[in-house]
Amino acid sequence: ETTHFGFQTVETKEKESKVAGVFHSVAQQYDVMNDLMSFGIHRLWKRFTIDASGVRPGNKVLDLAGGTGDLTAKFSRLVGKDGKVVLADINSSMLKVGRDKLRDKGLVQNIEYVQANAQYLPFEDNSFDIVTIAFGLRNVTDKDMALRSIYRVLKPGGRLLILEFSKPEHELLNKAYDFYSFNILPKIGEIVAKDGDSYQYLAESIRMHPAQEKLKSMMEEAGFEQANYKNLTGGIVALHKGYKF
Ligand code: SAM
Repeated sequence: ETTHFGFQTVETKEKESKVAGVFHSVAQQYDVMNDLMSFGIHRLWKRFTIDASGVRPGNKVLDLAGGTGDLTAKFSRLVGKDGKVVLADINSSMLKVGRDKLRDKGLVQNIEYVQANAQYLPFEDNSFDIVTIAFGLRNVTDKDMALRSIYRVLKPGGRLLILEFSKPEHELLNKAYDFYSFNILPKIGEIVAKDGDSYQYLAESIRMHPAQEKLKSMMEEAGFEQANYKNLTGGIVALHKGYKF
């Protein structure tokens, strides 16, 4: 959020530096922790996202808040030599870990790395066929602004896919999941990554994130059409999709 004069407010600055601190701190251990905390299921959620994107050879894809590049790696193979994937992330440590990992896999030809804030995307209007943001939107301070910025850079006919933690469909699952995120997850973070605070933040950011219907209406507000979502793993995660026409 900005003040009347366009300056960032103190809370905004605090959130941004907190998020930056968390991701500088978890970058090296990020992939191991992801597998551990989701029991490997994040791989299935990401595979589902790729399938739902309808990506084709030659497409231009923006993997926003792309971090260590799991989606970028998959897209890079699918768009081929005539396509392009831009991995954009606000955090230099995450970008570095991502770039090293993808280079080790031999993926160099069609990938670009850009340090950027989702709220102020440094790309031309109408330049991408697909934008994905996986487990990234909840960390963004002004989500409406980010959605408008994404809309601007999509080509007409292009689509946005948002993969994010959401609200479990059943109350019992909701309770179990809350217990897991607030009591178990920070402990795993403490023991494995020696960083309980960062994982406490992650749990809080998951609870604060808008639920399925709310996020859908935020997409519509930003201009997206045919906005819809699919719950995955009982709504622990949801995949939202919308088009720019
Ligand atoms: N997409 C990757 C994945 O699914 O494994 C990484 C997800 S990670 C939980 C969240 C990422 O969002 C971090 O790399 C963080 O630096 C990035 N991020 C946070 N705020 C951002 C912003 N305002 N603009 C762009 N990236 C941001």
